[in-house]
Amino acid sequence: MTAWRQDFHRHPELGFEEHRTAARVAERLRGWGIAVTEGIAGTGVVGTLQGRPGNRAIGLRADMDALAMTEATGLDYASETPGRMHACGHDGHTTMLLGAAEWLASNRHRFAGTVQLIFQPAEESLGGARVMVEQGLFERFPVDAVYGIHNLPGLPLGTIAVPKGPVLASSDTWEVTFTGAGTHGAKPHLGTDATLAAAQFITALQAIAAREVDPLATAVVSVGHMAAGNPAAPNVIPATVFLKGTARALTEPVRGQIEARIGEIAQAVATLHRLRAEPRYIRRLSPTVNHAAQAAVMVQAATGTAAAVQDDHPPITAGEDFSEFLAARPGAYAWLGTGDPAHPEGVHHNPHFDFADAALPHGVAFWCNLVERELA
Ligand SMILES: [Zn+2]
Ligand SMILES: [Zn+2]
Repeated sequence: MTAWRQDFHRHPELGFEEHRTAARVAERLRGWGIAVTEGIAGTGVVGTLQGRPGNRAIGLRADMDALAMTEATGLDYASETPGRMHACGHDGHTTMLLGAAEWLASNRHRFAGTVQLIFQPAEESLGGARVMVEQGLFERFPVDAVYGIHNLPGLPLGTIAVPKGPVLASSDTWEVTFTGAGTHGAKPHLGTDATLAAAQFITALQAIAAREVDPLATAVVSVGHMAAGNPAAPNVIPATVFLKGTARALTEPVRGQIEARIGEIAQAVATLHRLRAEPRYIRRLSPTVNHAAQAAVMVQAATGTAAAVQDDHPPITAGEDFSEFLAARPGAYAWLGTGDPAHPEGVHHNPHFDFADAALPHGVAFWCNLVERELA
């Protein structure tokens, strides 16, 4: 498995471009006698594995995509593709599901029913899960429940943590354009200043999290981009300011509250300064929230195989499109601890990140135990 993982690491591919990865996955699954369907959501692969006769079916999901980053690990199996890097450990996720597939394929007597092995494209930003669901994933490959695992370097190696409710936040993008009347920098009274409006908007924005959302709930609104004027013309008050950022919440009501207030604050600030605001809120990912029954199954599956089990891990404000699967079917998502003294640079999306191969057998044991319990 270490060889497979390091091969995937060496050849990272962006979302919907995982042609080599998907081909390797399909080839290995077929080699173990597993029925393979390719081309779901472009580069997605589903392996269908039958055990003893049984009516139940479950889905296990691994994501396959890498990031548009330049790797700085200096490892001998570092990315060979400039500007592409497995910096979220999806090379490890793909490998663990392959490892589980091989074991399950040679131990079909140990479970009754069907395991759908879902190899998903484009988890990072491009919404591969939604495309799979829209292309009839669960109609073509019915499941009673769907499960996901993600590595977490902040947890000790081999620990399995299953959040009770919210696991990850919604991840949305917002934009606001303030349009005033540009003027001479020395004569502001002859125009309307979009930069002043933008400054007030940014300050007021933080009142959403600080003053409007319940302090015991979670809300994040961050400005990620600002564009206005020309550095060669500091004596010009620009006519427009464009702002763009991200918003995160753990529940739909708070997500809706943020969406509504960003628009209202933009309009109110524009009115105050006698100019125009055009706010836009783009819903990208819903919060990932575990279903109670399936979270309990994951805890049971971890007990006995994992180095340690946490059944109350706090949520994280990153986003995950596994939420698309959970909107369609019951299921749950667990963190696999990959904290490893050999890999001190344990931060996702960091150019020094590397999945800890020592975690591979822990993930495989967890997957196999989950199948044996769910399809007993
Ligand atoms: Zn990621
Ligand atoms: Zn990831």
